[in-house]
Amino acid sequence: DAGNLWHAAKEGVLQPVSSEILTSNIPSHLRDPNNKWFGLSLRARTIVYSIKRVQPGDLTTYDDLSKTDWKQRLVIRTSKKVYNQSLVAMLIKEHGEDETAKILKGWVSNLAAPPFSNDTKVMEAIIAGQGDVGIVNTYYYGRLAKKDPNIPLALFWPNQSSGGVHVNVSGAGVVAASKNKAEAFAFLDWLSSEKAQQIFADVNMEYPVNPNVPVNPTVSSWGSFKQNKNNLRNAGENQAAAIRLMDRVGYK
Ligand code: FE
Repeated sequence: DAGNLWHAAKEGVLQPVSSEILTSNIPSHLRDPNNKWFGLSLRARTIVYSIKRVQPGDLTTYDDLSKTDWKQRLVIRTSKKVYNQSLVAMLIKEHGEDETAKILKGWVSNLAAPPFSNDTKVMEAIIAGQGDVGIVNTYYYGRLAKKDPNIPLALFWPNQSSGGVHVNVSGAGVVAASKNKAEAFAFLDWLSSEKAQQIFADVNMEYPVNPNVPVNPTVSSWGSFKQNKNNLRNAGENQAAAIRLMDRVGYK
């Protein structure tokens, strides 16, 4: 998660990597402006819904899930894990703290169940009829759909006429104490290459960060979307504010 990579950089664990290969293979919003970490695999944190009880036309944005239409229908993962901390940090970047607090308050008052420990449980709760709509990382949906292709869930891409779907990365950097700098730099370059990106994306059901690499057919069957282009360093910079807001509105 970019929030964790940002922390590693801030604590001085990572050293800058100056590489034209990395900067040309990886879009700028998915890497550290100071070149200490680089996103290598992209996931969207998006809306998942019950195809039995929700029409895609009922959905629009993340903030819309705070409206009373969704009362006792929303299920989400705990605020204690970095994924939702990063999502909220990026919402703060997009909407500011006051507006984000309102969104979170709405989410909390719409909850159909206390927050779950992971994204898979969120989807299982929707399948079981406990809730109708949730927010998850795309690859967890992929894992569940692989086990059961008839899963009664679908993904929705919110914020398509505004800021775009929130994305995050798995990524890497080179530790400051590295004894094998040249090899580490070469390895990072290779991980961003078309060949490695293809392998990576086929295995983990995520999206390649390198725009020249096609999305795996299973993943592309979920549809394409406009992604939020705010730099992921905001996931780290706004993390403390995100945790404070979630705490303040009683999002456990
Ligand atoms: Fe995960």
